[in-house]
Amino acid sequence: MDNKDVKMELILNGIISPEEKLNVRFKKKIEKRNDLIFLIKEITSYLEYDATIRERIQCIIQEITHQPKCSFCGKVLKMRLSGKYVNTFPKTCGSKCFSKDIRVKEKRKKTNLKKYGSKNYLASERGKLTTRNTLIEKYNVTNPAFIKGNFEKRLQTQPEKTKIVQITKKEGAVFFENTHVQGHIVANIYYGLVFNNILIACMSFKKIKKQWKVIQYSTSLNADVVNGDSKLLKHFLKIKKPKLDIFYSGKNWQD
Ligand SMILES: [Zn+2]
Repeated sequence: MDNKDVKMELILNGIISPEEKLNVRFKKKIEKRNDLIFLIKEITSYLEYDATIRERIQCIIQEITHQPKCSFCGKVLKMRLSGKYVNTFPKTCGSKCFSKDIRVKEKRKKTNLKKYGSKNYLASERGKLTTRNTLIEKYNVTNPAFIKGNFEKRLQTQPEKTKIVQITKKEGAVFFENTHVQGHIVANIYYGLVFNNILIACMSFKKIKKQWKVIQYSTSLNADVVNGDSKLLKHFLKIKKPKLDIFYSGKNWQD
């Protein structure tokens, strides 16, 4: 008998509902059924702690076949019996291992990155070089965001998946040179909107006579950027908190 057979047996006996939920009165139903109790214990004998019948039935429902262990230290884990994650096993034995585990994973990621460049070919150095060469050859640009009129390959940005980052003056200069009719105008602060690791919009700010001013805003030529300007402006206001009378927006950007 395997896990599926036992599950079916428990469904037929009304201990698990056809929707695979544990019957709240399962204890009463199972009381005099030593055969079922034996079956449940037998199929979940991989559990290395003194689990209750309820926990064992949950394991059968979830088709768990191995004793879950802390992914950092290997300690035997017990099923959660209450809370948001009731009836599931945690990934680690506690907060100490949780944070250590995250650190180890981060380290592994970094090592992989060092060793192999990246799992993703396009993101690897070699892949990037190939992409770059193709872009220069075909479109005379180095960033796909700068391809003009490439409507077929327009980036369908999902606004909720964009990230606001502060970018350097150099990065801002390259972006505006490629996307803004006026080219780049020097500013003090540059905020960018990033989607899939590609800079798709940029806004720059400059302090002139104690007043902050929006200098430039533009979007990548082949991306639909929804509300990028208001997002970046709001971010600036949140971070810099200029008093309203010392901030004015020139509104001299193109979109
Ligand atoms: Zn642990």
